[in-house]
Amino acid sequence: MRTAGRKLAEVVAKLRAEVAVDMPTIEIDRLTEAEILKVGARPAFKGYKVGKAVFPASICISINEQVVHGIPGKRRIREGDVLSLDFGLVYGGYYADTAFTVIMGEGDERSRALVTATEEALALGIAKAVPGGRVGDIGHAIESYVRPQKMGVVTQMVGHGIGRKLHEPPSVPNYGKRGTGDLLKAGMVIAVEPMITLGTDKTKILGDQWTTVTEDNSRAAHFEHTVAITPAGPEILTKLG
Ligand code: MG
Repeated sequence: MRTAGRKLAEVVAKLRAEVAVDMPTIEIDRLTEAEILKVGARPAFKGYKVGKAVFPASICISINEQVVHGIPGKRRIREGDVLSLDFGLVYGGYYADTAFTVIMGEGDERSRALVTATEEALALGIAKAVPGGRVGDIGHAIESYVRPQKMGVVTQMVGHGIGRKLHEPPSVPNYGKRGTGDLLKAGMVIAVEPMITLGTDKTKILGDQWTTVTEDNSRAAHFEHTVAITPAGPEILTKLG
């Protein structure tokens, strides 16, 4: 899983360097798929099924009020857009999953605060991924950091265990009480993924069966790492160096 995580981090570095204003999102999808194949892996999201819905692309691209699961297409990225990129790969039978949000250009002040807070919330959540902890410790760390900043915590979707499947137990909510929920043990690997908004906690899914937006159209950000829980503490697998 370390190898899968490192390969995914390499693709993230490529995307961070390449994504630019005026690029159609389908172009980012092509680039992502090409880079995943180049590192000898397979895209984890392409063909992923929820019920009868099949995800058609290698990456989810969610812009502004879109929280997650946006489908790449002809839409071009604009200056000031809040762009969330979420994708995974499979290598040697093991999955890795990651997400990050970037503002194209300078953006407005609240959007910048949102992106900074979501990335920091991820770090705070990951710090609680220790043997003997509970998933509620992670959720509490995330929620108690963002709520005072007048931001919403998406509750309808959560982080997850990961390994030979993309989604495994336990669920890892971005909210909760300390000392509650599933026990964390050394050897577990989880995807921690706060989805934070500038408004409501509530989301809805659009008619394409995938794109998930905030109910109040407020902007959202999303950061995710695949994290191994080791006796020495959390080890982020989807990070370089
Ligand atoms: Mg995930």
